[in-house]
Amino acid sequence: MDLSTKQLNLLQTLTQINGVSGYEKEITNFLKKSYSELGYELIYDNLGSIFAHKKGNNNKIKVLIAGHMDEVGFIVREIMENGMIKVAPIGGVNDQTLLAHRVHLQTREGKWIPGSIDAVPPHLLSEAERSVPTKLASMLFDFGFSSKQEAMLNGVYQGAQIVADGPFEVLTSGRRLLAKAFDNRYGLVLGLDILEEIKNQNFDFDIYIGGTVQEEVGTRGAETIAHKIHPDLAIVLDCSPARDSMGDKGALGQLGEGVLLRFYDRSMIAFPELLAFQREACEQTGVRYQYFDSNGGTDAGAIHRQFDGILTLTHCICARNIHTCSSVIDIDDYLAAKKSLLWMLNHINAEQFKLWREARR
Ligand SMILES: [Zn+2]
Repeated sequence: MDLSTKQLNLLQTLTQINGVSGYEKEITNFLKKSYSELGYELIYDNLGSIFAHKKGNNNKIKVLIAGHMDEVGFIVREIMENGMIKVAPIGGVNDQTLLAHRVHLQTREGKWIPGSIDAVPPHLLSEAERSVPTKLASMLFDFGFSSKQEAMLNGVYQGAQIVADGPFEVLTSGRRLLAKAFDNRYGLVLGLDILEEIKNQNFDFDIYIGGTVQEEVGTRGAETIAHKIHPDLAIVLDCSPARDSMGDKGALGQLGEGVLLRFYDRSMIAFPELLAFQREACEQTGVRYQYFDSNGGTDAGAIHRQFDGILTLTHCICARNIHTCSSVIDIDDYLAAKKSLLWMLNHINAEQFKLWREARR
């Protein structure tokens, strides 16, 4: 199966919108428009998370489906006298992935201006210098200004966000996509796709689907939206690191091998009953799935421990090169995640829910 033109366009549009943690406004605006056009009521928290709300026939149970809107990037720390800029990282950035990249900075007026990260040519480096990776703290971001004053007059300020360019490409096989920020615009596109799919459907429970802020700096929006909505069940959509590049078939996180059954990560130990439900969803819909663990975490880590505990499941796919401007996903993984998520929504009911809740009692 292929992605529809609409799905492809959404993946392109959403990966190309910029927004590091704390600066998600342009993504929020896009989602606000999209959710409203589909006729959904909007729910916000005070940090900027945004959710579409679908009322159920019996709104005793609330299901939250969340993907984070923010991406990793930088903020301006220092504007040097010569117009060059020093930055701090936002989220987990590997310094080795950065030199000579094209970047964009958002000015005080909201305009995006192009630039690059300064790189010294190899023949100007000593043998010793060449073997030591440059640290982000000493990297210089160049937006073409020749003085601090010129940079400031053009709207550069301390605290401005910077994002590395990562143009959207459908790779030659037609099955894989390359772009920045599939972590986690994947989750936002899937959420929107599901909202469109279920628009005219009736459910017994309330459904909230949307985007959280500031996941990459510590799942902050997940906490606040969980408090705003107080869901009974949360499903977190995120994009996790693939580990298959070296060809090791035993490594967890194979691109194209389907939905991740994330049994363990640093932030949450999966609810076995929910994992079994997710597995059943994959089997019933005939899509691939794979077990996955991670040293990282997701919004699920924050959500599952709010109040007296919230039943939470992650519904992720993997990508190569996450947290760089060149992440790669497989179309089949996206489609598998969509099919199985729809199955889950159609099979959640009060009885089932009661069993999950009582499983640990
Ligand atoms: Zn993520």
